[in-house]
Amino acid sequence: MVTGASGYIAGWIVRYLLEAGHTVHATVRDPHKAASVDHLHAIADVTPGTLKLFKADLLDADSFDAPMAGCDVLMHTASPFVLDGFTDANEALVRPAVEGTRNVLNAANRCETLKRVVLTSSVASVYGDATDMKGKSAFTEADWNTTSTVDHNPYQYSKVAAEREAWKIHDAQTGEPGSRWDLVTINPGMVYGPSLTNASHSASIGTLLDMGRGKLRSGVPDLVYGMVDVREVAQAHLLGAFTTEAEGRYILVSESVSMLDIAASLRRQFGKQYPFPMMKVPKPVVWAVGPFMGPVTRKFISRNVGYPLRFDNRRSQTLGVTYRPVDDTLRDHFEQVLEDGLVRRR
Ligand code: NAP
Repeated sequence: MVTGASGYIAGWIVRYLLEAGHTVHATVRDPHKAASVDHLHAIADVTPGTLKLFKADLLDADSFDAPMAGCDVLMHTASPFVLDGFTDANEALVRPAVEGTRNVLNAANRCETLKRVVLTSSVASVYGDATDMKGKSAFTEADWNTTSTVDHNPYQYSKVAAEREAWKIHDAQTGEPGSRWDLVTINPGMVYGPSLTNASHSASIGTLLDMGRGKLRSGVPDLVYGMVDVREVAQAHLLGAFTTEAEGRYILVSESVSMLDIAASLRRQFGKQYPFPMMKVPKPVVWAVGPFMGPVTRKFISRNVGYPLRFDNRRSQTLGVTYRPVDDTLRDHFEQVLEDGLVRRR
């Protein structure tokens, strides 16, 4: 079973599962919304697996029992990934993430066939701000985000609160028939790479569009991300599900790259005719104008702009993940943006 199957990451998970011949119970909020599910039907038509769509909402506690019936693996990807466009962060992000995880895992406790849960967590559950790295050479799976709150980095807070809730419910299983399912979390950095759907609102897709459309032409803040390809993230979910010895958390980051590194890679590969940013905006300028230009606060700017960020990805490699170069991820992603007409080809 895959929750949130209409999403950017889940699309690739469903594709790989169907290619491997699995029967996939996929939950979406609206199974009749063509934009959310047509690409999944198209994949199912040409792959050996079987796709069954179910309607489920994170805030509807009973909606996950029917889709989970008979499943041995649950991949819980559904969670809002939006950074702006809301007024109440608790209602928009935290409640669906945490209550949703509780509802899904309570259903898992009622499902006798279930053996393994793979939760799509995030590096946002590992750290909140770049300054949290103080004194460390890199973040590892032993680190937890203790600095985010509903008021400061609410998306990050929604992810760490949801992952903690998942471990709490997992650890509360006792004896027989409890301890039926074990938990693996996949903790990706910023995910890029081609999308199988145009309908996703994932914040991943927005930054590349902004770069290609010239919104960031005058420069980018000195912000570093741990980047990973969406196809590696999806493969990691399958490895986490079907590798018997898999356990615990797995950070999924290929490399740390700055926004300017992303722009430079795109310019090298697609040419100077696109309005990719060419310079860093000095931190005092970001401090002065940032809060008027996007969903960033001065507290975020002071704790993230100009700081390094590094992740130790060795555990994911022991799981079998192999990372493609960031240049290839960005090439495939931007090529798709051009093909879909989201940015005009020049
Ligand atoms: P996405 O395309 O926006 O997918 C999010 C999914 O969650 C959508 O399928 C959405 O369904 C579903 N969802 C949201 N609210 C829901 C609700 N109340 N009930 C049921 N479903 C709901 O974003 P994504 O990037 O693929 O993210 C998938 C997961 O990966 C999330 O848990 C996110 O936190 C995590 N993640 C993402 C990144 C990244 O860089 N993209 C990095 C680390 C972790 P609808 O189609 O119905 O809206």
